Amino acid sequence: SAKIIDGKAIAADLRARVAGEVATFRAAAGRAPGLAVVLVGEDPASSVYVRSKGRATREAGMESIEHRLPADTDTATLLALVAQLNADAGVDGILVQLPLPAGVDTQAVLLAIDPDKDVDGFHPVNAGRLATGMPGFVPCTPLGCIMLLKSVHPTLSGMDAVVVGRSNIVGKPMAQLLIAESCTVTVAHSRTRDLPAVVRRADIVVAAVGIAGLVKGDWIRPGATVIDVGINRTDTGLVGDVDFAGAVQVAGAITPVPGGVGPMTIACLLANTLDSARRREGVA
Ligand code: NAD
Repeated sequence: SAKIIDGKAIAADLRARVAGEVATFRAAAGRAPGLAVVLVGEDPASSVYVRSKGRATREAGMESIEHRLPADTDTATLLALVAQLNADAGVDGILVQLPLPAGVDTQAVLLAIDPDKDVDGFHPVNAGRLATGMPGFVPCTPLGCIMLLKSVHPTLSGMDAVVVGRSNIVGKPMAQLLIAESCTVTVAHSRTRDLPAVVRRADIVVAAVGIAGLVKGDWIRPGATVIDVGINRTDTGLVGDVDFAGAVQVAGAITPVPGGVGPMTIACLLANTLDSARRREGVA
């Protein structure tokens, strides 16, 4: 049966490394890196994410600047807050927790964030930098997935990778990163014909769909590495997009849910914030 990729342990290592480097940064720059998080409304999942991001930020020795706004906040108010954070020299990273309430123009808010403080990597300038191989911010979840893959395969060159899902937040940047690692990449989605056959070709499967257990064990090529990004709440608790019980018997390595990709996402957010602070202060 497959090796279980311990995302919790790999994330803990990354967080410890970031915390050490934050201490060095503070000594050189005379201030802590700052991450501003904006939460609009009271979506329960978003509130949990924002709380754990804040805790992890402080534990790494960085400053967490939290802005909680009521659900009826309008676009203009949010744009003004983003402008204020863009101008604030103590803020290295700006994260607007999605989804925003239906009345808010999400695109306008994301476009207003200074691309050089966009530690989520959602601004089109950063998507373009990733697509063209320029330095910039890479979205945290796919960045974490690459680190998990490299814990199994130090080099990914030449491998066949299938990404299931084509969202701007996970699927597309995941595909870009795999191309940059010299994989042969297929992106599958809701209109893909014969998804099982497409998945069966892959040495690497990344599932980012949002449907519990969509990817079956008998779709997995024996020995393949499976990264399950899905977080689905069911009666039996949190489960991924991969049928874990089936896939674990066939795969070479697989991430669990929870304890796989999730912890890496926050650790990569801290790493991106530290990178931003270093770039902005010009310290190594
Ligand atoms: P999304 O809804 O934006 O995109 C889902 C994608 O799946 C779409 O591109 C769609 O084409 C594809 N899809 C839908 N039905 C399909 C089907 N039957 N067959 C093949 N493809 C299909 O979702 P997202 O934001 O990319 O998130 C995907 C999942 O990852 C969700 O469960 C989300 O909760 C989870 N997620 C986890 C983390 C983390 O930190 N672990 C971060 C972000 C998202």
